[in-house]
Amino acid sequence: MINVAIVGSGPSGCYIADMLSKKLANAQIDIYDRLPTPFGLVRSGVAPDHQGTKNIVRQFDRIFQRANVRFIGNINIGNDISYQELKHNYEIVVITIGAVKDRKLEIPGEELNGVYGSGQFASWYNGHPDQADLSPNLNGNAIAIIGNGNVALDISRVLSKTSEEMRSSDITVEAKSKIEAAPISDIYLIGRRGPLEASFTNIELCEFSELQQCVALADPAQLPDRLPEDTDPKIATELQNNLVKLNEFAANDPDSKPIRLHLMFNHSPLQVNGRDGSVRSITLEKNSSVNGSPVPTGETVELQVQTLISAIGYRSNTIEGMPFDNIRGTVSHNDSVIESGVYTAGWCKRGPQGVIPSNRSDAMSVAKKIIADLEASPPESNKPGAVVIDDLMKRRNLTPVSFEQWQIINHAEINRAPEGKPREKFNRVPDMLALL
Ligand code: NAP
Repeated sequence: MINVAIVGSGPSGCYIADMLSKKLANAQIDIYDRLPTPFGLVRSGVAPDHQGTKNIVRQFDRIFQRANVRFIGNINIGNDISYQELKHNYEIVVITIGAVKDRKLEIPGEELNGVYGSGQFASWYNGHPDQADLSPNLNGNAIAIIGNGNVALDISRVLSKTSEEMRSSDITVEAKSKIEAAPISDIYLIGRRGPLEASFTNIELCEFSELQQCVALADPAQLPDRLPEDTDPKIATELQNNLVKLNEFAANDPDSKPIRLHLMFNHSPLQVNGRDGSVRSITLEKNSSVNGSPVPTGETVELQVQTLISAIGYRSNTIEGMPFDNIRGTVSHNDSVIESGVYTAGWCKRGPQGVIPSNRSDAMSVAKKIIADLEASPPESNKPGAVVIDDLMKRRNLTPVSFEQWQIINHAEINRAPEGKPREKFNRVPDMLALL
């Protein structure tokens, strides 16, 4: 028997479990998650109005039905069970804990009330227990969002959709009513580089043409006439489509809808200004673009905003005893191997880049590597795996949640949702455990 522990039940963990459970003879796979709920960012990172993307869980569900795969939720590796204990008891450990900590802007005023990281903010509206008490300040009419990636677009969209447009999403009831009640009239989406360097994708950008109460705007002076001659042909079509869409936004009437989304390029945040401890404005510095890199010009502009959300990427959490690269905010590894018998995949390995299918191909290659390594040097002695860990969990009075128990939570969420809404999430762990 080969005992495998996977830490983190997001897409990377699920894809590795899928392949190992099918291809590794005599494998027993335990997938740990610190939450009682599986699926990581599919549940609490993917935007609540992108339900199509969340359909992937139907595929993941089937993995957990296999006899040699176990979900062990509500167990925090590093706190409840140590990294060392996992290594002692499993032949193979795979770390797939994603990247959930917000990168900091590192500018003065970042500590003011009204400044949030995108992970924090999206976790709040997605019902992640870590942010159940966030209650963000959405009392003002203007919000700045820093970053030009898809996460920045997700948050802008969720903040500007109507109640009807969010009806079939799984946003929490608290977040939905707070956003609906917010007097938002202007959202500034601020990129430090130009439109051709933005990392958002065209499908997501185009969604802003369809919104009922939000008009997207761009400054024509910030849009190049055409792509440079030396544009990489692999991305030229995507960039050209973005340029067409941004020109369409530049021609929009700012007064046509009650919420304006201003796409601002070539501006870096310099400092957040406060009054009585809360955000009053943000000072931006204009950049010029030199070979696609932002070069500060010394010219500044102050935007009156009452909320600021930085959507500039994520770091991974550390686990005590696990080698970690503090500068990159990722797990330390050599070709996916952290140390003998311990592997890593996904965002905690590569940093927060790529969509779910890119994590699939990464996870597949790591699973293949694990199988090849086991074939090349089979483990000498059998480790006890779940037997010892189950006993440890009992002795420590821990409350592991099985996949069957998750199904009880899942059905309760589905059953209590109003008509048209896929689920009404429980965002507090005690409320989930009370159902079991
Ligand atoms: P991202 O695509 O890497 O975007 C981060 C943005 O933050 C970039 O525009 C970056 O600018 C900017 N930035 C970084 N540091 C900054 C600083 N100090 N000051 C100002 N701006 C700064 O990351 P993300 O939006 O968090 O998305 C993470 C991954 O998830 C991406 O691969 C994304 O495509 C994926 N995702 C996909 C979807 C979808 O498919 N619908 C939805 C959400 C997320 P520079 O480019 O200049 O560094």
